[in-house]
Amino acid sequence: MTAPRTVEVLLPVAFDRALTYAVPDGLEVAPGDVVVAPLGTRPTVGVVWDGGGAEVEGARLKALLGKVAASGLSASMRGFVDWVAAYTLAPRGQVLRMAMRGLAADEGPREPRMGLKATGKAPGRRTPARDKALAAAANGETWSKKQLAESAGVSASVLDGLVADGALALSPLPPPPPPPRPDPHLPGPELSPEQASAAAALRAAVAARSFSVTLLDGVTGSGKTEVYCEAVAEALAQGRQALVMAPEIALTVPFLDRFAKRFGARPAVWHASVGEKGREAVRRGVADGSIQAVVAARSGLFLPFRDLALVVVDEEHDAAYKQEDGVSYNARDMAVVRGRIEGAAIVLASATPSLETRINAERGRYGRLALPARFGGRTMPEIKAIDMRRAGPVKGEWLAPALVSAVTQTLAAGEQALLFLNRRGYAPLTLCRRCGHRMKCPHCAAWLVEHRFRASLVCHHCGYTAHSPKTCPACAAEDSLVACGPGVERIRDEAVARFPDARVAILSSDLIGAGERLRAELDAIERGAVDIVVGTQMVTKGHHFPGLTLVGAIDADFALGAADPRAAERTFQMLQQVTGRAGRGERPGRALIQTHEPDHPVIRALAANDREGFYRAEAIAREAAMMPPFGRLAAIVVSAPTRELAEAHGRALARSAPKQETVRVLGPAEAPLAMVRGRHRMRLLVQAPRAVDVPAYLRSWLAAAPPARGGVRVAVDVDPQSF
Ligand code: ADP
Ligand code: ZN
Repeated sequence: MTAPRTVEVLLPVAFDRALTYAVPDGLEVAPGDVVVAPLGTRPTVGVVWDGGGAEVEGARLKALLGKVAASGLSASMRGFVDWVAAYTLAPRGQVLRMAMRGLAADEGPREPRMGLKATGKAPGRRTPARDKALAAAANGETWSKKQLAESAGVSASVLDGLVADGALALSPLPPPPPPPRPDPHLPGPELSPEQASAAAALRAAVAARSFSVTLLDGVTGSGKTEVYCEAVAEALAQGRQALVMAPEIALTVPFLDRFAKRFGARPAVWHASVGEKGREAVRRGVADGSIQAVVAARSGLFLPFRDLALVVVDEEHDAAYKQEDGVSYNARDMAVVRGRIEGAAIVLASATPSLETRINAERGRYGRLALPARFGGRTMPEIKAIDMRRAGPVKGEWLAPALVSAVTQTLAAGEQALLFLNRRGYAPLTLCRRCGHRMKCPHCAAWLVEHRFRASLVCHHCGYTAHSPKTCPACAAEDSLVACGPGVERIRDEAVARFPDARVAILSSDLIGAGERLRAELDAIERGAVDIVVGTQMVTKGHHFPGLTLVGAIDADFALGAADPRAAERTFQMLQQVTGRAGRGERPGRALIQTHEPDHPVIRALAANDREGFYRAEAIAREAAMMPPFGRLAAIVVSAPTRELAEAHGRALARSAPKQETVRVLGPAEAPLAMVRGRHRMRLLVQAPRAVDVPAYLRSWLAAAPPARGGVRVAVDVDPQSF
């Protein structure tokens, strides 16, 4: 008897290993095929992985249940899944799950959708409704049932009756016309000489059909989008594919319109709010090559492109590219990896590149194209700090007198002002005046944030929501609860109260979302139908509001005090981005930064418009501390139902760390958020020189570490965003 044929199948579950299955006679499968395999008793859709075919002796192997008629995963996609899993230490099945999103169980030829058509036969019985329906259908076309009912103004049951009578018959609907394709040969805008030379370099990178990484380092308003669209045009003209990534769903919205203006059709869209049907269509389209351009949030990186020529990572510095739940990966870094595997050109675009990327460019690992000036001779905004220690507002108000008078002047000139505060909700803390009780999340080490529009208190970490109470839950005093500190809703109230004649709009992800409402608001702002925009970080990036000439940043430096060594960089980037919204149109802009630390290097660099100086100083500080990008860092977070359990396991882990001369293991210490969703969290940090393969170190450590028991969980985060 011959041994059964076997294959290795990776299933989209939290396993690292592919499982071996027998291949039933008559089934032909190859690596990359999508198959159905029993997992326990459950039929599960997975992918045939490489290797395997091993003969298993006396095997009582389970057999594959069948093959799915779906485009599978190419060798390069499988390589990418393996690479991401190895780097992040996530089980391969969990990474595979990301690469299987939008996969319909059956992508085979579809039954045509059926519609209705007049047969010419008279119905047995006539009514006014039946006459209307037949009159509408008399043109001889095949109608969808819904359209015919609407057009004739009759109910669906009338149509059913006519079908039963033989006056209408089912007939296949013609397939819907394919969506219009973007046309790379439409004329683009006339580029400035600097833009033209950057665009030529990017076109050349795409035309080279090989892996490259280029930093497109251009100040706000320099026209980075116009420039990288030329690289997209090159990819499309070659008949290949381009992926443009945005850090937030909200940012895909304005890009869609700009893209459509440039190429005559919209790109496909891929992100968490796209429905199942839409995702299936995008996945199928990128796999068969009929979709050439996609704009996506970070998960778009796992789409099975047939011939990927270009990935643009817009706002590459953005922390939102880091996914922290499940597989913890940075989409910017993984885009570079995907590019290497696919032989694609990678463009990292930002007005405030991450220090990582700057250093990679300085050391020649990445190319760098600079756009040091705004397009059209526009000047950078003038930035000034308002010293809140001396010239702050009175208690209970948040806009300093200098900012108020600047807004007044701006409005008088018929221009727009933006008030920026990076805090959603009305107030970050609710406190009882009588007993001092603070409203805390029952599941997290965090205060509840008041959201006044929704009349609730919300935990921004776990989503816990409670009605705003009337009495203090601790001392039962009535009307004793007070809101402390500002959130963006409170700034809006203050703006409305101070400038009663101004039209005020608020942009915050929890109020606006990323759909049509956002589009309408952005449109109103662009048209000048809004005088004051109040917004969270949602307004800091990417948007182009030509009438906006004043930006006021409130509580700009609250993050500077954090222990996180990246705090300075992040604050600098955020403030540079938000102040960069000012003066992008005809009139010059200015920005006022309310701060308690006007002498902080970050604030000084901003006021002096000294971006290079800031990066130099920041690089020196990081290098001295051996912090990324000069050294490597990983975090291990141990969580458990009690602090004791988390701490005990953290200690046990630390004791089991392999000794390696250049690797330092710090902790366990309380994680920056000591409790989330009822789980206590302790953290270990691993610090090592760049030459060390940190994932390999972690793997050998965790393989021999004491097992987690009693509800203890261990999560690994290579290259943590905050540390
Ligand atoms: P960035 O992304 O670098 O901040 P944008 O790409 O948004 O800059 O460009 C800023 C504004 O200038 C946009 O309105 C854009 O359409 C316009 N712009 C940039 N370059 C050109 C050009 N070559 N011709 C016409 N308009 C341009
Ligand atoms: Zn919570």
